[in-house]
Amino acid sequence: MASERIKQKDWYKVLGAKPSDSPAELKRKYQKLALLEAAVAAAEAEERVRRFIEIDQAWKILGNEETRREYDLQQREDNLTKEWPLHEQIYLEDMCWNEDEQLYTLSCRCGGNYSVFKSETKDVSLVCCDTCSLVIEILQ
Ligand SMILES: [Zn+2]
Repeated sequence: MASERIKQKDWYKVLGAKPSDSPAELKRKYQKLALLEAAVAAAEAEERVRRFIEIDQAWKILGNEETRREYDLQQREDNLTKEWPLHEQIYLEDMCWNEDEQLYTLSCRCGGNYSVFKSETKDVSLVCCDTCSLVIEILQ
């Protein structure tokens, strides 16, 4: 019995109340705190749900080899487009084909070259000049 009494919480303190408070005051303090806690809990729950959806989306994209690769490429291309000016859009068949190296090339106006291996053309659509910072987009 004695130990149970020691464990007993200070319920007045929980409500921010005093033993001298009237029943109406106690009720008012209880309702105020309960509403506040409910509002905080709802906001937290909403944030958790939002986070969960985000985490779930990230996993859906990155947890799959194919969508992850697509995402990585997309990111890389977004960065390229942001960092470098796009020179022009070129159809693959308009580039020079080098049979020996299995390489498509195009002269840049700076005198440098854009080159992309045939094996890369499936994954790569933006190619940087080997000399300047211009980029071309390959259309297929
Ligand atoms: Zn160039």
